[in-house]
Amino acid sequence: MSKNKRREWIKQSTSITAGLLLGNSFQAKANSINLKQDKKASVVVAGAGIMGCWTAYFLHKSGYDVTLCDPYGAGNPRASSGGETRLIRYMYGKDEVYFNMAKRARKLWLEEGKAIGKQLFFNTGLLIFSEKSIYDYAEASKGLYQKAGLKLDKIPSGQLKAKYPFLNVDDIDHAIYDKEAGYALAADSCKAIVDYLEKSGVKFLLSGAKPGKFEAGKLQHIILNDGTTLSADYFIFANGPWMPKSFPELLQAKLNITRQPVMYFGAPAGSLPLLDKGFPVWMNRDAANKERAYGVYESNTHIFKMAYTQMDPVSFDPTSGNRTVIKAEVDHARYLMEKRFAFMEGAPLLYTKVCQHTDTPDKDFLLGKHPEASNLWLVGGGSGHAFKHGPAIGEKVTNLVSGKEKEQEKFSVTRLYDLNNFTKNHK
Ligand SMILES: Cc1cc2nc3c(=O)[nH]c(=O)nc-3n(C[C@H](O)[C@H](O)[C@H](O)COP(=O)(O)OP(=O)(O)OC[C@H]3O[C@@H](n4cnc5c(N)ncnc54)[C@H](O)[C@@H]3O)c2cc1C
Repeated sequence: MSKNKRREWIKQSTSITAGLLLGNSFQAKANSINLKQDKKASVVVAGAGIMGCWTAYFLHKSGYDVTLCDPYGAGNPRASSGGETRLIRYMYGKDEVYFNMAKRARKLWLEEGKAIGKQLFFNTGLLIFSEKSIYDYAEASKGLYQKAGLKLDKIPSGQLKAKYPFLNVDDIDHAIYDKEAGYALAADSCKAIVDYLEKSGVKFLLSGAKPGKFEAGKLQHIILNDGTTLSADYFIFANGPWMPKSFPELLQAKLNITRQPVMYFGAPAGSLPLLDKGFPVWMNRDAANKERAYGVYESNTHIFKMAYTQMDPVSFDPTSGNRTVIKAEVDHARYLMEKRFAFMEGAPLLYTKVCQHTDTPDKDFLLGKHPEASNLWLVGGGSGHAFKHGPAIGEKVTNLVSGKEKEQEKFSVTRLYDLNNFTKNHK
């Protein structure tokens, strides 16, 4: 919502108040708006990345009066949910919590995407080039797949080569194929959800929010960038890598915001008809588990997205950090890409992006109540793997707010107190 539109909405809210003096708890002063009303519980969601968008979506669907705000807009280029695509997979070793959450989320990506009117998930399958370290991980994952009546296929490299002659797979025994997997649209999903919500009556404010007064075990209001205060029944802060700025005492030492480069190369169009028809999203891990490369080929644009998880990432400021990718990073991405996709040798680099992870010490998410406010939920700590879970997170947070689900220790704010070292393992 533009500044003018926001002023208009504030004005409207004030005049609604004037018209409903009795029997309604709307009470607005010039610069202070109370969203509380008798009919519906009101919620303000701060942050329109994938977690905030899906949370606002499910809260709205469950009948809450929702206001969503973001200073830079839904899925903006600074957000961790910015860019084109994110991998969707279930494979989490033996971790049943994330397996189930990813499975639930995939269903919701499909169903709720339909409700919104846009295809958000693309079921390309996932190919994992199995160097040694991933054998154990995939083997460990098999149990959960079997329990869920799903399969992880083992494709011998000879068979893979016969199917995709353009692949370099002579050094590996086999690949693993997960047919359920694929990719979701990143920024476009956030934008589509917010478009849908605005059409459905949810207010979107183009503004940052900071927590206001804590009193009687509750957060009383939030403060928008122009100083307006908003009172509501519940508040959700889902502002990703900005969470330590919003709650410095609580989260500064517990969330590590790190820089992650992404490269976009131009694949040859027309010369590889099989590739042009589409290719699974893919991951590659080397034997020592030091190289974790992954990519998405978009057949409609011939853009070959290529990224790798930094093993020793540097800290990053999401507001002002320099998003220029350096040559050494491009060279390393190119090396990892050409290792499996020889036809990409010398492919032009089209553009680059820098995104950030918001790591918790244990790489588990943060979906917990603020220790000093029973009506304030902190939703974040994506730790480089949250996007796929977006709709399941939104649904879960809605259930937490309504009391339908109990808070889990695994995702709580308080568990962070005991964690002082950051693991280098990735989920
Ligand atoms: C390069 C890269 C690749 C990734 N690949 C995958 C993948 O393949 N699969 C996967 O599942 N996950 C992946 N992830 C992780 C995933 O993208 C993130 O975990 C997820 O997007 C985090 O979403 P979020 O909503 O928590 O944060 P964000 O998307 O950062 O959203 C936070 C929002 O809050 C807003 N904001 C900031 N301050 C305020 C304020 N004061 N008030 C209101 N709003 C505010 C921001 O503008 C922003 O829009 C990847 C991440 C990166 C960086």
